[in-house]
Amino acid sequence: MVKCVSILGSTGSIGRQSLDVISRLEGIRVAALTAGSRVEQMAEQCRQFRPRLAVMASQEAAEALRRELQTLETEIAWGEEGLIRAATLEEADCVITAVVGMVGLKPTLAAIRSKKRIGLANKETLVCAGELVMEEADRWGAEIVPVDSEHSAIFQCLMGCGDRREVKRLLLTCSGGPFFGMEQEQLKAVTKADALRHPNWKMGPKITVDCATLMNKGLEVIEAMRLYRLPLEQVDVLIHRQSIVHSMVEFTDGAVMAQMGTPDMRLPIQLALTYPQRTISPVEPLDLTKCAALTFCQPDLEKFPCLALARACAQRGGTACPAMNGANEEAVALFLADEIGFYDIYRLVAQAVEQVPFIQNPTLEQILEADRLARLAVRNSSNH
Ligand code: NAD
Ligand code: MG
Repeated sequence: MVKCVSILGSTGSIGRQSLDVISRLEGIRVAALTAGSRVEQMAEQCRQFRPRLAVMASQEAAEALRRELQTLETEIAWGEEGLIRAATLEEADCVITAVVGMVGLKPTLAAIRSKKRIGLANKETLVCAGELVMEEADRWGAEIVPVDSEHSAIFQCLMGCGDRREVKRLLLTCSGGPFFGMEQEQLKAVTKADALRHPNWKMGPKITVDCATLMNKGLEVIEAMRLYRLPLEQVDVLIHRQSIVHSMVEFTDGAVMAQMGTPDMRLPIQLALTYPQRTISPVEPLDLTKCAALTFCQPDLEKFPCLALARACAQRGGTACPAMNGANEEAVALFLADEIGFYDIYRLVAQAVEQVPFIQNPTLEQILEADRLARLAVRNSSNH
């Protein structure tokens, strides 16, 4: 079990649930907390958890936090430099990456180079620069324990599997989101409020929209390929409306291992902290006699083309994935600002991927440039 944790993105959905888990586990301290702009919530977390360092996204927010916390010894910083300091504080042995989006990339790399265990929630990081992140983790001997429920499920199914050649394929389950089963005509008219109503999970707004377009599952296919170093053909997606089976691994002898449980992110978060041990958690026990029948079917790639697009980008590799991710972040932000419709997300992302010059083996700088160009492409075409 880890002893001292820093959380990047502590005021978000994963961040708050991480603090809830930590408050119930004995013997874990908090080294650093970071947030975007929610000063009051951060001040409250600092009073409760007494971190050595608290980081806000802007200088203005950091100053507001300083005024709130005059009597505490917590040091306050801001911006990317602050995030990187939080990710590398000496006393922390684990960093939970719970910021949303590509901003998580540099701090995650910094934490890896400081040999921290990474409790990885920030999937955009692996989608954009997964090969680089995994290489660095190998080089520095930093453990990556996934927090995303599907990847944690696979991690658990692979415990005790010494040879990856025994894995035939991964089966990522997908709730289908709020628009499962709708006709294309209906889908054209869905609103932001409809998209933000997820049937089984309560999450931050960006990932909730990604669940509605199924882009989230596309990002997770790429995340799984990188984490488990498997080709696209070995990562499949199954719609499973009940979110009880969190994912599965099929082995070469035909055995299929599944990890099941009540949908509650505190389980994978806690496992990232206690691994290789398990301990009592607040997660409601699963009563299989009381839950609905478990069903599985294929996703509809025509109605939800973002998943097909993500698979195509995964196949191409190189800068296709960071371009797609950057374009998606930008398009989802526009959708959340009521500036574009639901299907525009797919249209703008697909266009942007075509517009960004393709590089097969990009450096970190070229990945960041692909992200920047893709965002620009989305902003330019949404203005027309
Ligand atoms: P959220 O929007 O609820 O929280 C995001 C956190 O990041 C907040 O603390 C916010 O202040 C901070 N943040 C945002 N922009 C920032 C910036 N520019 N600089 C610094 N901090 C910034 O998001 P979430 O739902 O908790 O998701 C976090 C990550 O975890 C995402 O990558 C998501 O895909 C992944 N994830 C979330 C869930 C879930 O259940 N919520 C499940 C699986 C994976
Ligand atoms: Mg997930």
